[in-house]
Order: sequence, then structure tokens, then C-alpha cells
Amino acid sequence: MLYKQISKQYVNQDILEYIRSLIPEKTGTEIEDKASLESILKWFKKDFMQWVPKDPKCERCNLPMSFQFINGDSCKVRNIERYECSNCYSVRTFPRYSNIQEIAETRTGRCSEWSMLFGAMLNSLSIKTRIVHDYLDHCWNESLINGKWMHVDSTLDYPISFDHPYYYEQNWGKNYRYVLAFSSNSLDDVTKIYTQQWDIVQLRRKNGARFEEYADIYSRM
Ligand SMILES: [Zn+2]
Repeated sequence: MLYKQISKQYVNQDILEYIRSLIPEKTGTEIEDKASLESILKWFKKDFMQWVPKDPKCERCNLPMSFQFINGDSCKVRNIERYECSNCYSVRTFPRYSNIQEIAETRTGRCSEWSMLFGAMLNSLSIKTRIVHDYLDHCWNESLINGKWMHVDSTLDYPISFDHPYYYEQNWGKNYRYVLAFSSNSLDDVTKIYTQQWDIVQLRRKNGARFEEYADIYSRM
């Protein structure tokens, strides 16, 4: 399971040391509260990372490109997205890495790469951070701040990127079943934090996998 692989990298001191070296000193290395998270969230989104659009256009022709999905051939590459222009035949590829160092070198991705790397950055600054996945189409982070796990999403603009757990349900019409948080040795059901419609979520859960099944797969990895 991808997120177990990531969580293990979050406790690897060599990886954390490397990731820590990428964060400019002035961005803040003394992060203890929500106010100090602001600068690193802004820096990461504005200066460090690039977003990879889902339907890229050819840079030369400004036309939509055809898409091909290629399975990854190593544990480092999950898969490769290949885009080709039907007019000029130029090709663009987007390898999806599960290795934090590779993501840090390419500095590109979508929510999975962003959350995997941003989580590593916060962990490298000694802010305990985990990955959260909604099993729909998005993932983000949670950081332990003053003893409480807080919503952190580096892909969103500040201040929405911090402590706005209902944002997705209110703005993206999310119909959650399970929102799960991954640490190197545990899996937590955090759905309640992200919904104001807990009754409806529970009804939805009557169909499909149960939490125990997710937890069982996770523990066996
Ligand atoms: Zn073209």
C-alpha cells in the first residue's frame, strides 16, 4: 500500500535530513503553532512545487493531447502518464513517484506528490505529520499541533490550507465513506473530522468495504 511506504519514509532520518536541507532558513525552522505554518505553506505552493494539470495542452499547438497510462516498472515509479500531441507528435511524460527524494527533485505532481513531500518537510522540521486519503480523489496531510491532529493541505491557498476540514465537503461536494490517516504503524479513521453529515456518511457505509478491511490490508503490508 502506497501510504504505508510513504509513512515509513517519514521516519527515515536520512530522507528527512535531505528534505530539511531544501527548506530555506527564512521560511521558518521553528514551527510550533498554526501561525508559523503559514510561511512554509505559502513557500511550498508558490515557490517550490509545480502542479501537473490532468489534461495538458501541447505547448506548441495549444491543442489537447492524447493520454496513455503506463504501469510503473519499479517500486519507485508507480506509473507513467504519457501525453502526445496528435498534431506535432511532441510527447510529454509524467512519472508518478512514490519515493520522496524523487518527488523533491522533480518538484512536480498532483495532490499525492504534494502531500507526500509536504508531509516529509514538516516531519523534517519535527512536526509530526501524516498522510490523509479520502478514497475519492484527494489526499492531504494532518499535523500534530498542540497535541491535536490538524488539517493541512499544501495544494490549497492559505488560509484554507490550514484547519479547514469541511472545505472539501462544502466546496467540492464530497460524498465521503472513509477518510483515513496513515502513520508508519497505524491507520486511523478520521472521517468525522471532515464531515458535517456524519449520519449520511454512516448510511453510505452500509455498502462497500468496512474500516476493518482497510486496517487489515494495511497491517499486512
Ligand atoms: Zn503539438
